[in-house]
Amino acid sequence: MQLKVFKFGGASVKDAEGFANVGKILQKFSDQKIVVVVSAMGKTTNALEEVVKSYYLQDGKTAQLLSDIKTNHFTLINHLFPVSAEVMDDINDTMVEIEWVLEEPPHEDYDYTYDQIVSIGELLSSKILVHYLKYLNIDCGWLDVRDVILTDNTYRDARVQWDATQRNAKSKIEPLLNKVNHVVTQGFIGSTSENFTTTLGREGSDYTAAILSFCLDSESMHIWKDVPGVLTGDPRVFDEVIKLPRLSYKEAIEMTYYGAKVIHPKTIKPIQNKQIPLYVRPFLDPTSEGTLISDEKELSYPPVIVIEPDQTLLHISTNDFSFVAEHHLSMIFSLLAKYRLKVNMMRNTAISFTVCVNNNPDRILKFEKELGAEFKMITDNDLELVTIRHFNEDILKDMKKNKLILFEEKIPDTVQMVVRNLPKMKRKDS
Ligand code: ADP
Ligand code: ASP
Ligand code: MG
Repeated sequence: MQLKVFKFGGASVKDAEGFANVGKILQKFSDQKIVVVVSAMGKTTNALEEVVKSYYLQDGKTAQLLSDIKTNHFTLINHLFPVSAEVMDDINDTMVEIEWVLEEPPHEDYDYTYDQIVSIGELLSSKILVHYLKYLNIDCGWLDVRDVILTDNTYRDARVQWDATQRNAKSKIEPLLNKVNHVVTQGFIGSTSENFTTTLGREGSDYTAAILSFCLDSESMHIWKDVPGVLTGDPRVFDEVIKLPRLSYKEAIEMTYYGAKVIHPKTIKPIQNKQIPLYVRPFLDPTSEGTLISDEKELSYPPVIVIEPDQTLLHISTNDFSFVAEHHLSMIFSLLAKYRLKVNMMRNTAISFTVCVNNNPDRILKFEKELGAEFKMITDNDLELVTIRHFNEDILKDMKKNKLILFEEKIPDTVQMVVRNLPKMKRKDS
C-alpha cells in the first residue's frame, strides 16, 4: 500500500492555531493515505511528570495539577471548534483512567506508574485532532497505537518487539487505511504483552513515526517542526545558523546521537534500514521541502554544532594502584549498561578510566555503589558536551571562548569537548 507517515510534535499542536495549521496541512494531502503521529500538546508531558511527582510525594497538589491539564485541553477545544458531547466524553473518559490510578496508593515501581499516567498526553491530543479533522470533513479515523507497538516492560525506555509490531501494523493499520485516508495515532507510547502502557523515552514520537514507517514500508516520512529543517545548530542557542537542505542517514545519526534535539536519535535506524526518505519540514511553510535525509553519499557539509547540556564526568581509578585493565573495563561497562548510563566520551590511562555520561544522579549513585571498594570515583557535574562536525579552526576557537575544556578529542571530521562554561571576567574600572 502506498502511504506516507507524518509526525506533528508538541510544538506543532501547542495551541488552537497549531491544530488549525495541522488541519490546513492535512487538507492539502486529503486524497493520500497518511498515518498521522501526534505528540502531546506543548508542554503537557512536563505537566504530567509533575502530576506523577506530586502523587508520589502525596503533597496534596495532585488533583489540582491534573485539573489544570484538563482545563488546558478544554480551553483549546473551545477555541478550536464547537464542543460536542462526543468530544467531551472522549476527553473525560481518558482523564478518568488516571483519576482512578491516583485514587490508589502509589505503586512501588515509579517508572511503571509514570508510563500509565504520562501517556495520556498523547491520547488526549490525538483524540482532539481526530475530532477536529472530522469537523473539517477530512476522511480520518483514530487508532490506539498500543494495539500496534508492542514493547518489553522497560518502563520509560521501552524496547520495541519488532516482529509482533510489524504483524500488528499490517493487520490493524492497513485495513483501517482501506476505509479512511488518514489514520491519526499517538507518538511516544506502546504496550507490553500484558496490556500495560509503556513509553519509548522523552521526545519519542519521532521514533514512533519511524517504527510505523518501517513496519508499513511507507514511501516517505515527514516530521513537521517549528524550524525550517535541520540547521547547523540549535537556533535557540546560536545566531546565524543555516538550513542543511540534504543530509545522509549517517550524518543525521551522528548529529542526533550527540544531542541535536531536532530528531530523536532512535529515529534514523529504522528508516535507513528500509531506505525510506525522511523530510524534516517547517509546519509554517508546507510548500518547503525542509531537509531531506536519505542515502546520499559524498555530501559536503558546513560546520555543524551540537550541544548536549547536563553532562557528568566520572573519574574512576583503582585504590591500590593496580592497572585499569581489560577485566576492570569489562566490569565497568557492564555496570554502565546495567544502569543505562549513556557513554558520550571516554578515556583510560594506566590506573584510571574517565567517562562522560548524561547526568542521572540516581543511577550514577547506584553505579558507584556497585563498583565497590576496589575503586574510587570522583564526579564533575554541570558540564556540557560540545560536538562539532566538519569543524574548522575558526569555529573551534570561537567555541572554546569562556570555557574550561576538561576533555577533548579530535578525529578528522569531528571534535568533541566536555566543557564547563566560565563566567565572563571583566576588569573592574579603576
Ligand atoms: P517537536 O517536539 O515539536 O517535534 P522539538 O521542540 O522537540 O519539536 O524540536 C524542535 C526544536 O529543536 C527546534 O525548535 C530547535 O530549537 C531545536 N533544535 C536543536 N538542534 C537543532 C538543529 N540542529 N536544527 C533544527 N532545530 C534544532
Ligand atoms: N510528549 C513526549 C515528550 O514530550 C513525546 C514527544 O513529544 O515526542 O517527551
Ligand atoms: Mg518534542
